[in-house]
Amino acid sequence: MDSMYVHIPFCNRICTYCDFNKVLIKNQPVDDYITALIAELKSHGRQTLKTIYVGGGTPTALTVEQLDRLLKFMTDQFTVTDEFTFEANPDELTTDKLDVLHNYGVNRVSLGVQTFNNDLLKVLGRTHNFDDIFKSINHLEKIGLTNYSLDLMYNLPGETFEDIDMSLKYVSELQPKHISWYSLIIEPHTVFYNKINQGKMSIAGSLEEGEKYDKVIGGLGALGYPQYEISNFAVSEYESMHNKTYWLNEPYIGAGAGSHGYTGKYRYYNIKPVNHYINNMNEHGTVVKEKLELTDSDKFEEEMFLGLRLNKGVSEARFMEKYGLPVDAVYGDVLNRLTERKLLKRHDGYIALTEAGRMIGNDVFVEFLL
Ligand code: SF4
Repeated sequence: MDSMYVHIPFCNRICTYCDFNKVLIKNQPVDDYITALIAELKSHGRQTLKTIYVGGGTPTALTVEQLDRLLKFMTDQFTVTDEFTFEANPDELTTDKLDVLHNYGVNRVSLGVQTFNNDLLKVLGRTHNFDDIFKSINHLEKIGLTNYSLDLMYNLPGETFEDIDMSLKYVSELQPKHISWYSLIIEPHTVFYNKINQGKMSIAGSLEEGEKYDKVIGGLGALGYPQYEISNFAVSEYESMHNKTYWLNEPYIGAGAGSHGYTGKYRYYNIKPVNHYINNMNEHGTVVKEKLELTDSDKFEEEMFLGLRLNKGVSEARFMEKYGLPVDAVYGDVLNRLTERKLLKRHDGYIALTEAGRMIGNDVFVEFLL
């Protein structure tokens, strides 16, 4: 296994749009959680990994001492050869926490900026403001941790095209190495979902959303950030190695409450609620709730859904190497049909979405269901 995801499910405030596995940190048994997480990590044995990604929740919601304890264990147990990423909220990335991350070899930070507009940050229920973003980036640069990604969102309630221009202007000023820029998805069981259902809030329709997406892609392209995945952009050599593990459908370890992993044969899903996670680890020595054995058809479908998210697309040679048969043997008719409709293109041994295909990505993916 080359990659590992570690989940920290605590946040200092719950954002209005969030449906991730997270809880408000106040009064939570955070130290017990770290003890259980360390036990789970230990069960994977000592390993050399290419990438580790610590996400959440908010990993930077942990105290300096908690971060130190977790990272000390992780770096004793695992050697990371390439990319060690930590997710961080701008207002929580204090210099003392950053020192801990840096001392333990974290070499990439994914900063949850979302937008540069203070009013929109309030609507999202974020704890940080415009100034915090610049302060945290200052800290990062001072310490020499210049490989950071800005996480941004578009199509927010009340957002204008000028807001996107403003984000592009600050990207151009800050010159991060990587940008993830996702469209807001209204998920059930969120404050946003309830407000929209009650008619108290609205977001732009798909036409405006498409125009904003075009603006994001065009604007970042002009600034030297080519798109390499549906929602991800990077300067040369700085594409996220960890996230590419997912899109290339490679195995990875998932650790922590609600995380999931993939062995190449099956996917496994950890228990979500923090207390259940801790109790199961203490009483049964395992936190896996479910294992899902994959059929060949499942594997083919996932290879295509995930790989087509990448601009480069799915490698025909890798498909052959992984599954022992040419992609045309499984999907010949579908590939011909979608290529004729100019939704897919085949080039240099890769199958990729065209621009038109990317606009209706989900409709294209459905065609690969067996
Ligand atoms: S900080 Fe992240 S995980 Fe926590 S509530 Fe906000 S969006 Fe969700």
